Amino acid sequence: MDKHLELRGIGKRFGAAEVLSDVNLSIARGEFVCLLGPSGCGKTTLLRIVSGFEHASSGQLLLDGQDINHVAPHRRGFGMVFQSLALFPHMTVAENIAYGMKLKGVAPAQRASRVEELLHMVQLPAIADRPVSALSGGQRQRVAIARALAVPPNLFLLDEPLSALDAQLRDSMQIELRQLQQQFGVTTIVVTHDQHEAMMLSDRLVVLNGGRIQQCDTPSQVYRQPANAFVAEFLGAANLLPGVVRGPGVIEVLGSPLALPTTLSAGSRVTVAVRSEDIQFEAAQAHAVQRANSIAGEIDFLRDLGAKSELILRCGAQRLRAHGSSAQFQSARCGQRVDVLFDAGRCSVFAA
Ligand code: ATP
Repeated sequence: MDKHLELRGIGKRFGAAEVLSDVNLSIARGEFVCLLGPSGCGKTTLLRIVSGFEHASSGQLLLDGQDINHVAPHRRGFGMVFQSLALFPHMTVAENIAYGMKLKGVAPAQRASRVEELLHMVQLPAIADRPVSALSGGQRQRVAIARALAVPPNLFLLDEPLSALDAQLRDSMQIELRQLQQQFGVTTIVVTHDQHEAMMLSDRLVVLNGGRIQQCDTPSQVYRQPANAFVAEFLGAANLLPGVVRGPGVIEVLGSPLALPTTLSAGSRVTVAVRSEDIQFEAAQAHAVQRANSIAGEIDFLRDLGAKSELILRCGAQRLRAHGSSAQFQSARCGQRVDVLFDAGRCSVFAA
């Protein structure tokens, strides 16, 4: 791999609080990486360390093999779109976007045509001469993206760049941002807490929790093979059920023995994760014993959302969230007794 940026054992303390611990990550040239995790997990701090606005308490930051820990932010040549967008309020949109080019001595005519091209790319109509103060939050975000790309950056760093956009525009800007990144071939790191956005944008996802990397892989791999219960729940809202290993390939969950693969020894406590789209159930049979590999439950809540349906199943004290196509749940009724089926291929088992 052509390593562009390398983080080696990065740690960060604010006073007594350790907010990042032993973060190791290699990013290839041209790669698009998303830092994903819940609020407070350290995403922004990590991005700020890469940008140079924050210093790591320990570890090394290498750009093309060179230690850049002590290189000032403006000397790193990175394009940045941060939460506080720092657009110049007294300047027009065009002046903001052209600012970096002006510093570099690009000729006025060339600057103007590049501004037009960039405005077109970020889907803004002809507003080049409008003052930034007369723009909506979403328009400002797009101007900030255009400004960061005006002079091709070494690295493109974005912190929640699309958070001010409504759902529809956000969706189309995600596609646009990904295509822009591919067109420029620029190594990009985006911070987001939105898993859909992270999966739409990235070549690789870095899932953080409590200042530590939980998993780093392609979006589909992280989704299909979560490294632990945290990742399974965070990415795809998996249902987590406590269980105990009773023997080879047998886990007791909510009092029912289920055939699920595990290499853990008898007596081990585990967490069984099942995604809401993988929950399957059948109506309980009158006068019949419970089906094999199932847990008895009841439909507690059911909502037809048009294309799909969502429901909550209650199994003892545990509530399971399920969703599927409305056709699939056509005969389901609130209060109906069901057998919730556990298929080994649809469950992940983690040591608790
Ligand atoms: P969010 O999604 O809410 O922006 P985040 O994952 O980006 O969260 P950070 O902003 O990196 O999280 O913060 C990580 C932790 O470090 C938080 O507990 C935060 O309160 C703390 N923190 C961040 N900056 C400072 C600071 N300058 N001084 C002290 N604590 C800080």
